[in-house]
Amino acid sequence: MHWQKYSCHGCGDCCRDFTVQLRKRDILKLESQRWSERIGEEVTQVFRGQTYLRRRDDGSCIFLREDGLCRIHAEHGFSEKPVACQVFPFNLAPGEESLRVGLNFLCRSVQQNVGADLRDHRKDLRRFADVIPELNRPAPDAPLARGLDSAEDLEVDAVVDRLDGWLQNDDHSMSVRMDGLAFVVQSLGDAKLQQVRGKRFAELVEMLVGVLPEELSLQPVEAPSRRQASLLRQAVFTRTEDPRIEGTRGRIRTSLNQLRRSRRMRRGRGETPFLTAELPCSVDFRRIEGVGPFSESPDQEQISELFLRYARATLLGRRTWGSAYYGWTLVDGLQAMILNLACAVWVAQLSSASEDRPFCHLKDVQRGIGRVDRHVGRAPWLGTSVERLRLSYLRIDDGLRRIAVRGW
Ligand code: SF4
Repeated sequence: MHWQKYSCHGCGDCCRDFTVQLRKRDILKLESQRWSERIGEEVTQVFRGQTYLRRRDDGSCIFLREDGLCRIHAEHGFSEKPVACQVFPFNLAPGEESLRVGLNFLCRSVQQNVGADLRDHRKDLRRFADVIPELNRPAPDAPLARGLDSAEDLEVDAVVDRLDGWLQNDDHSMSVRMDGLAFVVQSLGDAKLQQVRGKRFAELVEMLVGVLPEELSLQPVEAPSRRQASLLRQAVFTRTEDPRIEGTRGRIRTSLNQLRRSRRMRRGRGETPFLTAELPCSVDFRRIEGVGPFSESPDQEQISELFLRYARATLLGRRTWGSAYYGWTLVDGLQAMILNLACAVWVAQLSSASEDRPFCHLKDVQRGIGRVDRHVGRAPWLGTSVERLRLSYLRIDDGLRRIAVRGW
């Protein structure tokens, strides 16, 4: 991914937003640095058996200074920070023979594509592999589809290369490219692949991409049905919600509250519920649906560039299947990718509608992509059978295609 750059510019966004889970070695380091005594309060918190860095009421890390710098970094150096902080925005996942490296698009520098060439980070990536033991344990490659053996390199490469080639084809509008992407992914989801392995699978992908865009024009896509729109909003809910770590006493109340808000998203009537502190709430659902297409936005070109880069980085970084995405199969993971992209569009429209803009601006899309990608591969609830069921329902009646072109 020579076209993607990154260097940390010290904006501190990740320290205001992420819930940092600690490893044993992080906890030992924090203890040896004697923070609790120096600060006069606990710096960690246990929730459901896991230890996390404490966050202030505004969501920021207890170690974030007013000048936006990390106190641990400032006093003890980069390598003394918790591992999760050092690794961000890289997503590292073990493969069968090598490390898979993806990038999280919550990071402002990644979104703006500023900084060093990714190759310049090789040394750091090798060092992370030394301090994270599970990265050194080979993980089996993702199955091709449910009930099938691991996808062969030839099969994964065929999907990644052909879909990436399609995304880059600027003879077509972004709407057509998104539709084509979803068409291929949906067709793979519907296909019985037991007998179509190896070279035959690669030929199938080649054929599916080859019939685009003629096939799309023969089967024009419609707007999502009410049920599909509802499934999309529920998916947005699960991808944006940030259950703040709360004590045992608040847990039942939190769950009930979560249920109520989730139901409001499912219905899609009236105003949006609270999703997370970083997103607007009480926005009329009709206003969100009324936001005009990206193609008419004053920032159309920058929006397309960012969205395309995000989609390609997700695909080439193999971020939505295998060890990077809850052990999901290649075919299920590609469907999850379409849903994640559609959710990012919905959140962008929410952002735009909340400020009465008829069209999304670049900042809305940055917000949408950042919010959704924050959870990709990190939120265990996105890897459950409920999510897979959602995708199965969405595949019915062209649902993946319909949500993929929504907003373009
Ligand atoms: S420990 Fe430092 S780098 Fe990690 S989230 Fe807190 S302030 Fe940011």
